[in-house]
Parts: sequence; structure tokens; C-alpha cells
Amino acid sequence: MRHVSDWTLDDGSVMLNFSDEVRRVFENNVQLGDSPESGGILLGTVHEPGLLVTVATTPSRLDRQFRYLFERLPFGHRAVAKRLWRASNGTTRYIGEWHTHPQDIPTPSGIDLDEWRKLARMRADKLPLLAVIVGREALHVELAHGNGHRDLLRPY
Ligand SMILES: [Zn+2]
Repeated sequence: MRHVSDWTLDDGSVMLNFSDEVRRVFENNVQLGDSPESGGILLGTVHEPGLLVTVATTPSRLDRQFRYLFERLPFGHRAVAKRLWRASNGTTRYIGEWHTHPQDIPTPSGIDLDEWRKLARMRADKLPLLAVIVGREALHVELAHGNGHRDLLRPY
């Protein structure tokens, strides 16, 4: 698979792992040719300092896909998050969001940054939002804080 599984902050305070299952979802949605933008939510488990991302939801029939704009209708994804949270006794939880860009090395747009900051502010557990963009060659991975602070992760 083309995307790296293990990511870290420079100071080592966060170690993040994408499961094979999650990387397969990214791989299957890479934007090649005229394929539309996709996205969904990321779920997983938090173990200081580790973050295991175990589920990436995919566009449901409720979502509309566009090539350059992914607009998410939250109902299907939120239902999956709630079901897994209950089934795991509260250990598998909402961690963040992913979407694709038709770029080899993806960079977030101004709209992405605004949206991530808003979503981070909405988190009940006050943790930063894991924000992932799936490009054709690489991932963009960052932790977005409600106050606008951004922590970029790098592969290791
Ligand atoms: Zn974007």
C-alpha cells in the first residue's frame, strides 16, 4: 500500500498508527482520473501517547461526491461512530476526519482549516481533531486544535 502507517510529532508526544484496514480504505479512494472527492470520519482508540486509527467510514449513499468538494451529510457516519462506541464499551471513539484531494502531495485548503478548527471546538472530550487528507502519493496528517493551533505529524 502506498500510504505510510506510522506517524509522529517531532517531540514524540504523539505516536499514531493507521490500521491496514484504514489504509485499504484510503487506497481504494485515492483520486485518480476523474474520480470524485471522498471522505468520512476516523475512529479508534487513544492510549497516551498512542493513537490507533482502526476505522475509516466511507461515503454512504447519503453523501454526495464531487470532484473538488466533499460535502458530508453526517447522519450515516455519526451512526457508525455511536454504534462502535457502544459496542466497544466506550474505547473506540471518534478521532477525526479524512477526505481525498486530487494532488500527489496533498495540502489543506483554507476551507479545510476552518472546518477542522470548528470540528475540534465541537469535540466533547476536548482533544484535538485528527485531520487527514489522502493524496495520490502521500497523506497529510495533522492535529487541529480548537484555538487554531496546528500540529503536523510526519512519517517515521
Ligand atoms: Zn480538502
